Amino acid sequence: RMSVRKITTGSKALDDLLGGGIETKQITEFFGEFGTGKTQICHQLSVNVQLPEDKGGLNGKAVYIDTEGTFRWERIEQMARGLGLDPDKVMDNIYWIRAINSHHQMAIVDQLFDMLDKDNIRLVVVDSLTSHFRAEFPGRENLAARQQLLNRHLHQLMRLAEVYDVAVVVTNQVMARPDVFYGDPTAAVGGNVVAHAPGIRVQLKKSRNNKRIARIVDAPHLPEGETVFAITEYGVRD
Ligand code: ATP
Ligand code: MG
Repeated sequence: RMSVRKITTGSKALDDLLGGGIETKQITEFFGEFGTGKTQICHQLSVNVQLPEDKGGLNGKAVYIDTEGTFRWERIEQMARGLGLDPDKVMDNIYWIRAINSHHQMAIVDQLFDMLDKDNIRLVVVDSLTSHFRAEFPGRENLAARQQLLNRHLHQLMRLAEVYDVAVVVTNQVMARPDVFYGDPTAAVGGNVVAHAPGIRVQLKKSRNNKRIARIVDAPHLPEGETVFAITEYGVRD
């Protein structure tokens, strides 16, 4: 087993909170309300994974599975410039795939098992993990079916992370209750539909101006507490 490797987020404070950055062989979930920076972080990581190792990257490429149509090449260009990288090269090393429904989303991940073998992909983003599943399986009456499929999807992603030594980063828009999806108490009462939760869960909250607050949830091996980072014109920073 190769050792775990890490990708910088662009913020030293956020990296420290994560124990050095986003890990390979692991699923990291960013969850929070709209506009908290989930998509911005995914864009930034797709750029940063390409950095050399001494700059916090893995010299690798990224796959960006976009379920909401919010991926922006212009934002990648800005972030590349912010790091002094050639935007065209950076864009060449990101495979953007638009997933049109949950079935397609899962089929894409299946296909990645072939693709990752042949290419130097070190990051797979799913932004958002949950939007299609929520739209297609609304309400409590569909909760069990939704959880079952999502579990299968997470399991697929976990295998991908472990087998190919890639970092898997997923987003999840939540309103007030962060546990509404993974640990819904009504689901636990209803039967064995408790979800296979991602390895590392990071809650994001808005703060003043361009600042955001990040907090790690349920990770015994990581420090407790919160940290502040910023989303600037050039991307994620301290
Ligand atoms: P949702 O749940 O709706 O998908 P999200 O958590 O993915 O939300 P993002 O799209 O990552 O939210 O964050 C959007 C915010 O990022 C904007 O409100 C703005 O504050 C900041 N942002 C986006 N682009 C820029 C930019 N070019 N320069 C500075 N800040 C930006
Ligand atoms: Mg988003």
